[in-house]
Amino acid sequence: VEALVTGVTADDLAARMAGILPIGRSGEAGTTRLAWTGEDRDAAGWFAAEAARIGRRTERDPAGNLWACPEGDGPWWAIGSHLDTVRQGGSYDGALGVAAAFAVAERASAPLAIISFADEEGARFNTPTFGSRALVGRLDVDDAVTRTDQAGVTLGDAMAAAGVDPGRIGECPAWLERLRGFLELHIDQTRDLAVAGAPAGVVERLAARLRLQLELRGRADHAGTTPRAERRDALAVAARLIVRGEELAEPGLLFTAARIEVEPNSATTVPSRARLWLDARGPAAAAVDAWRDALAQEAAGIAAAAGVELDLRTASRSGGVAFGADVRQALQAGLPAGPAPELLCFAGHDAGVVAERRPAGMVFVRNETGISHSPEEHVSLEDAAAAANALLAAVEALA
Ligand SMILES: [Zn+2]
Repeated sequence: VEALVTGVTADDLAARMAGILPIGRSGEAGTTRLAWTGEDRDAAGWFAAEAARIGRRTERDPAGNLWACPEGDGPWWAIGSHLDTVRQGGSYDGALGVAAAFAVAERASAPLAIISFADEEGARFNTPTFGSRALVGRLDVDDAVTRTDQAGVTLGDAMAAAGVDPGRIGECPAWLERLRGFLELHIDQTRDLAVAGAPAGVVERLAARLRLQLELRGRADHAGTTPRAERRDALAVAARLIVRGEELAEPGLLFTAARIEVEPNSATTVPSRARLWLDARGPAAAAVDAWRDALAQEAAGIAAAAGVELDLRTASRSGGVAFGADVRQALQAGLPAGPAPELLCFAGHDAGVVAERRPAGMVFVRNETGISHSPEEHVSLEDAAAAANALLAAVEALA
């Protein structure tokens, strides 16, 4: 009698997650597994143990991504996510996708690779999707390896201490030849699926994203004795630009004045300098670019009128990524309740980076609160199993 291939169960996911959950967890402070740390090394140990359980050897590519591949040279479809977290993050963002990848690979009839991408969150060196960008050859290696963490350690030194030679990151794109395509299971970081009453859903696209960095240079002066007409107040200009940035954002465009630094930051001095980081995201790149152009034009006028010098530059920009229709249909076909409305995702993900070079797709797991990057993060493993079974069905159709 031929054994029936059974689907992924909540119990299976719970058993796999049990090994990774304690790594980097500290009670109510949540989970901290930053890239290239001891916690990261322990997480790699969990990965190797899970790989060994399904008869796989673990390899590390030149960017530190972990691979558990079938026998032979490939290329294969791969499934995975990431094992690093933000500071004081939750239990499921990333790790759930890797646990599900092992569960799916064990059951799939096609040979599948499992990948855990290095430093997806970028929480230590501000290098989000580090490993996947290195794989597709889009990482600015010189810039990345010289970035420093809060303790002044460079990313290059941290990598070397973790046993990965930063001088070889540029060799990572050769590993792309092993890959036919990539699928990722991830928790929903919104309430979209909860509102829709669906345990799992397929991501249609990742939103366009833009980060602007503004530097405003005025003149420090006495807060009491400087007449209004003579002030060159950098912070007052920054405040106007924050308000205009919000006003210029059309519905659907998410704008955040995310960070500001002020000098001299003294209670009785007209601020001489302000550095401002603005983040804008929207469904379409054209709308995000139009917002930037409008703000840049107004900013020049507002700064000039206040006698403040302005330097505005685009720190990073992504035009957004649409996942391929074939992959989305294959995932939709595996959803327990049949095809559902597709999701627009405003966060970055490794699957979105891989999609630049290979077919890729994502399935999200319902998150009742929508909370992530927090110890409050929670999903039901029944829902996660439903999403994993959509992956299983998809790889059977695609591979
Ligand atoms: Zn994640």
